[in-house]
Amino acid sequence: MNLDARQRAMLAEMGVRPWWPVPAAPAAEAARVPEPESEPARPVVAEAPVAAPRPRPDMRPVPTAPAAAPVAVPVLQAERPEIANLDWPALQDTLRGCEACALSKGRCNVVPGVGDTDRPDWLVVGEAPGEQEDLKGEPFVGAAGQLLDRMLNAMGLARGERVYITNVIKCRPPHNRNPEPAEIAQCLPFLQRQIALLRPRAVLAVGRFAAQTVLGLAGVDEAVRTGPLGKLRGQVYRLPTADGDIPVVVSYHPAYLLRSPAEKAKAWADLCLALEHRPK
Ligand code: URA
Repeated sequence: MNLDARQRAMLAEMGVRPWWPVPAAPAAEAARVPEPESEPARPVVAEAPVAAPRPRPDMRPVPTAPAAAPVAVPVLQAERPEIANLDWPALQDTLRGCEACALSKGRCNVVPGVGDTDRPDWLVVGEAPGEQEDLKGEPFVGAAGQLLDRMLNAMGLARGERVYITNVIKCRPPHNRNPEPAEIAQCLPFLQRQIALLRPRAVLAVGRFAAQTVLGLAGVDEAVRTGPLGKLRGQVYRLPTADGDIPVVVSYHPAYLLRSPAEKAKAWADLCLALEHRPK
């Protein structure tokens, strides 16, 4: 299997060791490829990560909607019309003052998002802030965030450069518990307004909650999108926006990858899929 320098770098960034004979890289090129993480070599995984994931019979592609059509949102969503017309500064202010759910009571900071706000190539959507994110007011700054940064670097991106990072939920759930449907419902209008104002060219949703929420916005049938992430990944979905449909790729959450490093190979395949569909 011949990989180019970027693909080898991606593997290394993800901590995935090639398990097939790899031709020696030219010295100069090899020097640019970071060392893999110090994880032990893993057994061969069944799924070859370089193969472009194929649609599976149990996955339904999202029907393509005309650009002007309203976005179908078959997810639980609070009526918050006051958010729908906010400009970016007003959205940030409204977010920071939001007390729509009980999470506001326990937060140190609202965590709206970080990054390039001028039509970023990618919008990365995570789940919810953790302790460090709550303290700093910035998403993905803990250990999972460092892995996310490496994943972005492997895609030729960097925090703040052609990518905006946010979460489905903008306030930290206590003890990092899962977000509740009512909390997601209250926060969803913020994510939708962020999408409308940012006008990203593609979306990467990491983790089950982000995947389910974004796929809900994309009109994916509930029976499909509430399935396990392992069944949702491996396919490009389409999110209707005012600029037309944009690709959506879902993958594992970096925190999960830290706990389950064997799954990094699949996440790597997801990044390859994302790169195949990257904005030109
Ligand atoms: N996990 C997330 O989903 N988001 C963060 O911001 C941090 C950890």
